[in-house]
Amino acid sequence: MRPLVSRATRIDLGKRAGVAGVLLGTLCVMAELCFLFPDVLVARDARPFYHENLGIFRAMLQFSIACTFILGAWSAFALRSKAHGLLAIGLATAAFLMGGAAAEPLTDRPRAFSAGLDYFVLELLVLGLLFIPMERAWTLRKSKIFRRGWQTDLKHFFVSHAGVQLISFATMIPVQVAFAWAVRLDFQAQVAAQPIWLQFFEILFLVDLVSYWVHRAFHKVPMLWKFHAIHHSSLHMDWLAGSRSHLVDVLVNRALGFVPIFVLGFAPAAIYAYLAFVSFHAVYIHANVNHRWPGLRHIIATPEFHHWHHTSDEEGLDKNFAVFLSFIDRMFGTHHQPDYWPRRYGTVKFQPPESWLGQLAYPFRRQRETPYG
Ligand SMILES: [Zn+2]
Ligand SMILES: [Zn+2]
Repeated sequence: MRPLVSRATRIDLGKRAGVAGVLLGTLCVMAELCFLFPDVLVARDARPFYHENLGIFRAMLQFSIACTFILGAWSAFALRSKAHGLLAIGLATAAFLMGGAAAEPLTDRPRAFSAGLDYFVLELLVLGLLFIPMERAWTLRKSKIFRRGWQTDLKHFFVSHAGVQLISFATMIPVQVAFAWAVRLDFQAQVAAQPIWLQFFEILFLVDLVSYWVHRAFHKVPMLWKFHAIHHSSLHMDWLAGSRSHLVDVLVNRALGFVPIFVLGFAPAAIYAYLAFVSFHAVYIHANVNHRWPGLRHIIATPEFHHWHHTSDEEGLDKNFAVFLSFIDRMFGTHHQPDYWPRRYGTVKFQPPESWLGQLAYPFRRQRETPYG
């Protein structure tokens, strides 16, 4: 009798189950650490939300531990090399022994700073569950989930998410000090009194306008380009590739984007809605999906619009700087959106190193070749 799946397919599925099991198991252990040391590892602003929905998060954790066990066992069963399978089972066991779904805090003291490990775990889980099937259903280019460079991108993703509070402080405090003179409290009260949906669109437009020029400067000023080249160094476009950015690039962009929000004094609800929306949209425009959005693409940045920004094809260089509103590029003459997709992605004359540390150090090193401006 012929087996249900061929040997090659079984090995391939076994490898994927092993890597997925190790990744999910690592997230489970990190989630356990968040339950055990919330004061150190959980973003302070998010803690009331977790308390209100504790049952859901505990159930998610239990389900994830069970999935890790199954993936690990599957991999160990399918492959001759048991390393990934056993590691996944080991991680699931560790998460279970750390308290499983019933883990309670070991320390809970008030602290000025905390990491955002919860934010990293949840965002990776939610975005992965959303975008991996999406990229399968509407594939633009055939690609693997664990393609070249994914570990580097994951490290960038980790730093920008787990370090969210530090990044916020590092960007907000200098702006608050430098622009305190521009604040008019009565004017801010009027701004915050507007309907939330209107404030949402106002933030979108104003931040995009600032971001457009900051982004353009990062392309045109050679010293800044060295930092921004990291974001453009990815040869593959997918949901994880968008997180590849140098820390200096992230800090400068967030700080300057925060200026109009701080000076005008928008209501927190509008700011949070904006942040949730753009963090999803920023991932979406990098995704390996073939969505074209006819009509809407003339106003809003789509995957096609931003894929052109990442191209190394001559016709697309230094085009499409807008983050969300593509018509801003039309206003300033940098719009490029033909009726076909770009052929290649990446930088033109040189390639930054592949490792995360190498990319972090890259702008500070002497370069033999001149970057394109
Ligand atoms: Zn760029
Ligand atoms: Zn990008």
